[in-house]
Amino acid sequence: MAEKEHNLPILAIVVPCYNEQEVLPSTNERLAALLARMVDDGTVSPLSRLVYVDDGSRDTTWRLIESYCRDNSLVSGLKMAGNRGHQNALMAGIDTARDKLKASAIVTIDADLQDDPEAIVEMTTLFNDGADIVMGVRRDRSKDSWFKRTTAQGFYRLMQRMGVDVTYNHADYRLISRRVAFAMKRYPERNLFLRGVIKSIGFNQKSVFYDRTERLAGESKYPLGKMINFAIDGITSFSVKPVRLVFTMGVIFMIIALGILAYVLHAKFTGHAVSGWASMMLSLWFVGGCVLLALGVVGEYIAKIYIEVKGRPRYHIDQWIHNP
Ligand code: UDP
Ligand code: MG
Repeated sequence: MAEKEHNLPILAIVVPCYNEQEVLPSTNERLAALLARMVDDGTVSPLSRLVYVDDGSRDTTWRLIESYCRDNSLVSGLKMAGNRGHQNALMAGIDTARDKLKASAIVTIDADLQDDPEAIVEMTTLFNDGADIVMGVRRDRSKDSWFKRTTAQGFYRLMQRMGVDVTYNHADYRLISRRVAFAMKRYPERNLFLRGVIKSIGFNQKSVFYDRTERLAGESKYPLGKMINFAIDGITSFSVKPVRLVFTMGVIFMIIALGILAYVLHAKFTGHAVSGWASMMLSLWFVGGCVLLALGVVGEYIAKIYIEVKGRPRYHIDQWIHNP
């Protein structure tokens, strides 16, 4: 038995939680049952763990996590020192699972269980068959609100147009192998866009499909503003196309300017030079707007450089509760 256990993969299921007290009890019930089942039927090692990452919640999330760790030896808890956002919480969980749990495979799943946890079984099977990355892909989004669906779809389309390689309808529900977790150590960027990074790592990538359901309880931690920021960050941390576009815009404007130059000279020498208030006002504001926009795009990249150059830590860990 002990011999066999030795060969079983250690699975870590990383769950980022930010103010999730409403949903956590039912989430824990389902995930703990799932992991216990996988341990019992010999799919994964008894050293496997459910790792809740508390991303600086202000409600009773951490107290709930502490109690789950007490009651169930398969549960571990990681408390971050403050709110660092979804991507950093995931990274903290992945780092800890790799270094402290020595996990052979790490699954990340959102606390609201909108992504079907049963797909973890299939992910693990694919992992045992040699996959290094298994992406969870939503089959349809009919359960999402119209607004969420449309904005999310627009997001993928924009990303692809900007040259960022992402998998359509795949968020942060995936399995990665230990060597992918090690590969991620070599991406020190502060501006973390995990789905782009992981996809670009390569290795043997597979997908599993599942139906996305509604949030079990509580409300979305990604309001529109955060989503737009996330999209801008995703694009600017992966692609320099926006700066190219600014350059193209400049070229087009120079060509238009040549046309206007001809027109101006013609008007001056034929004595019609004074009229043209409308075209004057329009070009003033239009060109002014374009210049500001261009500055904004370039500024965005400079801001990114500024953040990266400082090289501040992505997160700090306050507590780590683990049942060895
Ligand atoms: N989350 C986090 N830190 C944050 C915001 C969100 O760890 O600052 C977690 C949250 O608890 C959840 C996951 O990220 O487990 C996804 O958030 P949510 O379900 O609210 O996003 P949505 O599914 O609406 O895009
Ligand atoms: Mg959600």
